[in-house]
Amino acid sequence: MENDKPSGLIMIFGATGDLANRKLFPSIYRLFQKGKLNKFAVVGVARRPLTNEQFQENVKESLSDIAGGQDHAEEFASHFYYHSHDVTSSESYIQLKDIAGKLDAQYGLLGNRIFYLAMAPEFFGTIAEQIKAQGLSDTAGYKRLVIEKPFGHSFESAKELNEKIRTAFSEEEIYRIDHYLGKEMVQNIEVIRFSNAIFEPLWNSRYISNIQVTSSETLGVEERGRYYENSGALRDMVQNHLLQMVALLAMEPPIRLTDDEVRSEKVRALRSLRPVAKDEVKNYFVRGQYGPGSAGGKELPAYRDEHNVDSVSNTETFVAGKLLIDNFRWAGVPFYIRTGKRLEAKSTAIVVQFKDIPMNLYYGAEQVLNPNLLVIHIQPDEGITLHLNAKKAGKDIETTPITLTVSNNSIDRINTPEAYEKLLFDSMRGDATNFTHWDEVALSWKFVDSISEAWETEKDSSFPNYPSGSKGPECASELLKKDGHFWWPIEKLETGG
Ligand code: NAP
Repeated sequence: MENDKPSGLIMIFGATGDLANRKLFPSIYRLFQKGKLNKFAVVGVARRPLTNEQFQENVKESLSDIAGGQDHAEEFASHFYYHSHDVTSSESYIQLKDIAGKLDAQYGLLGNRIFYLAMAPEFFGTIAEQIKAQGLSDTAGYKRLVIEKPFGHSFESAKELNEKIRTAFSEEEIYRIDHYLGKEMVQNIEVIRFSNAIFEPLWNSRYISNIQVTSSETLGVEERGRYYENSGALRDMVQNHLLQMVALLAMEPPIRLTDDEVRSEKVRALRSLRPVAKDEVKNYFVRGQYGPGSAGGKELPAYRDEHNVDSVSNTETFVAGKLLIDNFRWAGVPFYIRTGKRLEAKSTAIVVQFKDIPMNLYYGAEQVLNPNLLVIHIQPDEGITLHLNAKKAGKDIETTPITLTVSNNSIDRINTPEAYEKLLFDSMRGDATNFTHWDEVALSWKFVDSISEAWETEKDSSFPNYPSGSKGPECASELLKKDGHFWWPIEKLETGG
């Protein structure tokens, strides 16, 4: 890593948008507040005309929900500058270059530049090409492109996009954001696995029965109907966030914790994923779409009645799947994944179910032994729970399930940095561990493509197949039942913190 207290110019394309206002400005502020940045300035770029002063007011407003958000807000906002610019027009890149040069000199930024693309993906290629063509990337310091999801729509479109941005930036200079990788408990997967003697020896097909990864949302598509119609849950969640979590759970220990070593183990795990042939998809993956329903006494519309959604849409808002990893460690262990919108609860969690002990000595009506579970709670709860069996207090030998819990909720949580804060900081320090490498993106798309092709050719006549506010479609339970398993109810495994 280059520098623990980095300096640089952050150029945000799409600076009047939702992502910039809700996530990026507050994240830069937290870094500033904690004294983690050395010297910095920010140039915001978008089409609408704004003065620097108006832009700085927007920045200050975006801090209103942060504890202590008024402290030094004026000083912080004074580092922000605005340039009204249509990213498709080459002339204004020349002005942008001029502004960047002046700010470099004014703030002593050593020519370091982060280009953050907080914009619709159709502009990514053009922006990267223009940055190169107009010389914005000819700078004495580092130049890095930070780029949001979605990275393509299929392997072919991702490859095309990658080729365009690679004309201006080398792979080492491209930081593909997967904000799940910035989450505290996702980063904790590696630590739990590789720093505990009680887990790593058991982390294989001899002792693990199955692993379940769930990411459920209570929200529907909200204002993103147009985007979601072309994406669906498979492309929006599985190709990136869920496969990234599977890779972290399945990978071999890296020889060192450097970004290239960790990535190469993740790549090997993704390469071991058994591909699902188009005619086999129905045996491994199921899909759902929410119908009308209710939650908390409120009536909720069907997906097909949402804004900018086709009234006969075939887009899935729920996916469940069974993944098999064909290597020595994992042969025969199913990794079940599921994700969906408008479900009963908002929760992301991993359940590692261990195999039963070889012989149950505690037979009898009251003597039920539960399998051992390691639950990693990612959001909204953060923590770890280990489910064990122990003796019930009293003179008879009776077993009872017990849990050991560590919860990051409460006080620690206030200090838990937001995913975007960590990722921005890492990009400025040159630590690419928690960003996705092109090889990971390519393998994930190749895996997902055969599933989306099967679903595009075969419409699902059962849609909508789960009510809003429910646990999801019945077919997700059937998928596990075939293997003699069931989904562990996350809400009953909470940290209680
Ligand atoms: P958004 O609110 O629609 O913002 C888009 C931004 O792009 C606006 O600042 C807009 O400003 C600017 N823009 C549009 N066309 C332009 C052009 N031709 N030239 C210059 N600027 C232009 O979108 P968003 O929600 O912030 O999302 C941005 C990206 O992040 C998307 O790729 C999205 O998928 C991804 N993302 C967003 C979130 C989130 O929480 N919002 C989370 C994950 C990923 P003007 O209209 O003033 O030009």
